[in-house]
Amino acid sequence: MIQFENVSKRFHDGTMAVKSLNLTINEGEFFVLIGPSGSGKTTTLKMINRLIDLSDGTIFINGKKISDYDIHELRWNIGYVLQQIALFPHMSIEENIAVVPDMKKWDKEKIASRVDELLEMVGLEPQTYKHRKPSELSGGQQQRIGVVRALAADPEIILMDEPFSALDPISREKLQDDIVKMQKEIKKTIVFVTHDMQEALKIGDRICIMKDGEIVQVGTPNELIYHPINDFVKEFIGKINYNEIHFDLENVLSQTHDKNLELEKMSLIPITSSLQQTLKALSKQDQIGVEKEGEIIGYLNRQSIIQHLLNNLKEGEEE
Ligand code: ADP
Ligand code: MG
Repeated sequence: MIQFENVSKRFHDGTMAVKSLNLTINEGEFFVLIGPSGSGKTTTLKMINRLIDLSDGTIFINGKKISDYDIHELRWNIGYVLQQIALFPHMSIEENIAVVPDMKKWDKEKIASRVDELLEMVGLEPQTYKHRKPSELSGGQQQRIGVVRALAADPEIILMDEPFSALDPISREKLQDDIVKMQKEIKKTIVFVTHDMQEALKIGDRICIMKDGEIVQVGTPNELIYHPINDFVKEFIGKINYNEIHFDLENVLSQTHDKNLELEKMSLIPITSSLQQTLKALSKQDQIGVEKEGEIIGYLNRQSIIQHLLNNLKEGEEE
């Protein structure tokens, strides 16, 4: 668990990059920090592994102040992935992945099997890739190595600063899918910075929206979409072009309805409803019915529509 208690950062030139931040990131959570450029995301992230010192307040990891940790112990137990691919060019893929395990003095066999395991995890055949130099891999493959390198020594926490923003859309989506899948398997705490709301909604368990060094709202994707706290959040969420999303109401319907809802009171929308009309109806009720030619043909809830949106963001983007 990572806790921020009244954390502020003032740089030497007087810039207040982060202002009295209070935040708890739970163990095993996929936590996304999002906000416009200059809102303090990178500063917030770098304070966690002490790449940037705090000016005020305290950060705790598992209840212990970060300043009380040995700096090496702290860094080795926190994986870090950067936007620009930061592999060592003269070292092989295997050596790149092994950097932290080597520093931790793992034995050679353990390191070798870990490298193979990680390469397999991201779909790169170990025998083919481990002896290559970074320049012999595509951008997407290199960034994949950047991600597994951060996981190599089995850290509890992984910090990722816009790790996919330099990638082409297809590699980016593939890596987003991979990281979500990986997170479910390895259950690490991930703090992920992005400025892309689609990415945030797709991968985050919770999302923290920042502006001018302050938190505007923290919530699940569902909470942000249905209960945006102010116009700034609305506008941020609204940047997603819902019109581009392929929407087929019939495919989202469920045949079961929530037993706690009284059917007579349930709102009904026609099968021909647009996505906007559907979202609007769902902002008032947790579940709604869908009718066709005067008959209820199925039910819809918020969760199923969000899932549908996220599944289809991909197609929308490619159009
Ligand atoms: P983000 O990652 O959200 O784009 P940053 O955390 O990098 O934002 O920056 C937050 C604010 O702090 C910005 O106004 C930025 O210009 C400023 N800043 C970042 N690093 C420094 C620095 N080393 N010295 C002075 N100001 C900085
Ligand atoms: Mg940044």
